[in-house]
Amino acid sequence: MKEKKATRAWTLSVEDRDKLIRAAIEAKEGSYSPYSKFRVGAALLSTDGHVIKGANIENASYGGTICAERTAIVKAASDGIRSFVALAVTSDVPSPISPCGICRQVIREFCQLTMPVLLVPADYSKRLLGGKEDGVKETTLEELLPDSFGPEHLELDREGK
Ligand SMILES: [Zn+2]
Repeated sequence: MKEKKATRAWTLSVEDRDKLIRAAIEAKEGSYSPYSKFRVGAALLSTDGHVIKGANIENASYGGTICAERTAIVKAASDGIRSFVALAVTSDVPSPISPCGICRQVIREFCQLTMPVLLVPADYSKRLLGGKEDGVKETTLEELLPDSFGPEHLELDREGK
């Protein structure tokens, strides 16, 4: 694990990092979560500089619920934006929360394994104002989804063909 961290390709400037985190916090306002009462916001930064926000959208048929991360990815992808440099995710709890398994796989479809993923505590802004560490947990897609299956695997030769 230590080696992987040393070879991370951090591409985010301090300004973009803060911008993306604040967009994820804003995105939370769009949450429709009457059942869980657990608001989540996500924001993606595309390679061409767009910030795409998403919130969790629940459904009375619980299985129809869509997480914030997937909302953001699907919004972007359906507008033709399919290349990203970072993702930030936040909720209302004062500790970083992490994408669920389904979201990790959907993120994998469009993002590099080395892409930074910022897990943001709800009190990010308050921490900064108080002069504390921002409490953001920085990880990568590869750390969240090791040994993953992705689009390139469908290109592999099949045995016996
Ligand atoms: Zn999810």
